[in-house]
Amino acid sequence: MNRAQLIIKNALYYTAGTFEQGDIIIIDGQIATITTLVGYSGNFTAERVIDARGYTVLPGLIDSHVHFREPGHTEREDFFSGSCAAAAGGFTAYRVMPNVIPPPFDPLHLNDCVILAEQKSVVDFMMLAAAGYDNKQQFFGLIKAGAVGFKTFLQPAPAGKEQEFTGLIAADDGELYLLLQAGAESGGRFYFHAENYQLIKALEKYLHATGQEDNSFHYKSHAAIAEVESVATVLNFAKATGCKVGFVHITLPESCKLIKQAREQGIDVVTETCFHYLLFDDSYIDRFGPYAKCNPPLRNREASEGLWPYLFDGTIDMVGSDHAPFMASEKVIGPSKGIWQAPSGIPAIEVMLPLMLEQVAQGRLKLSDIVRLFSENTAKVHGIFPRKGCISVGSDGDFTIIDSNSRQKLSKEKMYTKARDINLMFDGMETTGKPVYTIVRGRVVMDHGQVDKNARGWGKYLRPDIIS
Ligand SMILES: [Zn+2]
Repeated sequence: MNRAQLIIKNALYYTAGTFEQGDIIIIDGQIATITTLVGYSGNFTAERVIDARGYTVLPGLIDSHVHFREPGHTEREDFFSGSCAAAAGGFTAYRVMPNVIPPPFDPLHLNDCVILAEQKSVVDFMMLAAAGYDNKQQFFGLIKAGAVGFKTFLQPAPAGKEQEFTGLIAADDGELYLLLQAGAESGGRFYFHAENYQLIKALEKYLHATGQEDNSFHYKSHAAIAEVESVATVLNFAKATGCKVGFVHITLPESCKLIKQAREQGIDVVTETCFHYLLFDDSYIDRFGPYAKCNPPLRNREASEGLWPYLFDGTIDMVGSDHAPFMASEKVIGPSKGIWQAPSGIPAIEVMLPLMLEQVAQGRLKLSDIVRLFSENTAKVHGIFPRKGCISVGSDGDFTIIDSNSRQKLSKEKMYTKARDINLMFDGMETTGKPVYTIVRGRVVMDHGQVDKNARGWGKYLRPDIIS
């Protein structure tokens, strides 16, 4: 009798663009066999057997955009609470952003982050390193240390906080250009939060001066043109320098159009959007104020609808949550204060998949699109495909098993994130479809909403197999 770690029986599973029926046998963390022979899996004894009848088995989903705040602000979130939230939300891996304190701006600091995550994370993880004008000489070393790419903010460091922003910033176009020049030499991919800082500052000043200080202040100051202009600049510089670039959380069809044209000209660019830009508009900022405040802001309905075609034509490669936790005391703003005083970010990793599955239920996209945008592409972009991102023999035994039919209400009380109390925007929304098992390298880390806290430290650091 052969020994297996896990058998998923009666699985309707996604593979190579289609759904097939069979039993999936996982040995030593990897998919050993997939069989359609009735009774074949009876040749194995397994530590655990899951009968997936009635469910759908997807390759493990990857959240391309999370802020887990460690090191630096573990009162907001840490690798344990954040990764438990990931598991609860149906994610077997995540890509963590580098704006922590201190940021991973050299191999030593990157390694410190990796060690913390290895000790605490329940699911696997990838690291984006910090890239700034001031740490250009570290890019090579950071790639060697396994970073899947770099992230840069296009703004000066806030006064007095320069230390916290080491390696995170290109303060102006000149610094950006030189950063991309060095980036091109390193061979890495450089991701940008694309918003023109000077434009936003000028609009903020104007809105204050003209007394436009209600919640609309946020989306009026972070105007659409700030993103479009910044995307255009990065693309122009990418063309001039030959640097591989990427955009996180793109929110506008105009940006997508520019990116599509740039690709046609041979510029190597990767695009991410976030689920909330697809599903919600700026009326939520009017209603929920700081609790719907994120950067870039939610846009108008037309823009949000206009993003959808770019999900299907390949312009948008992947979708992330931009899970960005804060304490309730930080988000709350007194009656005398305006929305500009509240920090930007929404903790969304536990609601993203159910809300996207609701779109599947409504017929706006297919389950195969979910796989492509949350797993297959995300793995390919980061050079970890086919180890991750597909269900095939030899791949890691990572699965997100979903129940497409169950109807439930999203409840912040059940969430694992430390920031559940600021999750007001989605609380009480109803969805059809939810994750029922999250499985990482053959280990069940979430079973019907319950995260296995003994899986603390199970998560592994994912270095690219191929530098993409
Ligand atoms: Zn972010």
